[in-house]
Amino acid sequence: MELSYPTERNARTWMVEVGRRLYARQLVNGGEGNLSTRLGPRRLLCTPTGANKGFLSEDQLVITDLDGSAQGLRAPSSELLLHLACYEERLDCLAVVHAHPPHAVALTLAGDELLPCMPEAITALGEVPTARYATPGTERVAEAVRPYLRSADCVLLERHGALAMGFGHRALFDGCDKLEMLEGVSRVQLLASLRRVPTPLPAEERKILNDQRLAGQARLRLSPRPWDRDR
Ligand SMILES: [Zn+2]
Repeated sequence: MELSYPTERNARTWMVEVGRRLYARQLVNGGEGNLSTRLGPRRLLCTPTGANKGFLSEDQLVITDLDGSAQGLRAPSSELLLHLACYEERLDCLAVVHAHPPHAVALTLAGDELLPCMPEAITALGEVPTARYATPGTERVAEAVRPYLRSADCVLLERHGALAMGFGHRALFDGCDKLEMLEGVSRVQLLASLRRVPTPLPAEERKILNDQRLAGQARLRLSPRPWDRDR
C-alpha cells in the first residue's frame, strides 16, 4: 500500500488548527488530549506534553520516530505510547486524535457501550468498542486499546476519553471529525436514555450503512493529494 504523507509544514499548520477545533468544541480542557500525524513511514509529528491544545504554536510541536525517540528539547505527549500502538497496528493510519469528549466519557461511567442507533454512527464511525480503564500516561492504556485497533477506527477509553484514527490526505481533520461525531451521537444516546433504553438500528439497515462507510473509506484513500502543489 502506497501512502501519501503531508509535508512537515502543512502538518504543523493543520495540527495547530485541529487543536483549536477540539478546544472550541469542548472536546479537551486545559492540557487534555493529544494529536499526532505521520510525516513518513517511521516519522511522526505530535503535540508536546501538557500543552493546552487550544493555544498551540507550530514551533511547540515535537518530531519523534516510531520508537518514541524525540528530537529537540520538548517532551512529546504523555500518551505517545497510545499513538504508537495505533501506527503499529494500522499501517494505513496517518493521524491519531485523542480527546476527552464529555458525553462519550459519561457513557463509559454509566457502563454503557456506544450503540449504533443512528445512521451517522455507522457511516462515519463504524463499531466503537470500549477499552477497559488503565492509568492515563502509562503503557497500560496502549495495552488496553491495542486489541481493538485492527477492527475499529475509534475506541472509547473507560473513565478517560476517546481516540480516533485518521486516514487519507486530510487525516488529522478526518480523526477530528470522527471525534466530533462520536461526541454528538454519545450526547443523543445519553439524552434518549433519560426516557427509555435506546435500541440499535436493525441489523439489515446497519449492513447497508456499513457498506456505505467502507465505500467512502476506499474513496478517501484514492483521493488526490492537494499538498503536492505547495511542496
Ligand atoms: Zn487522555
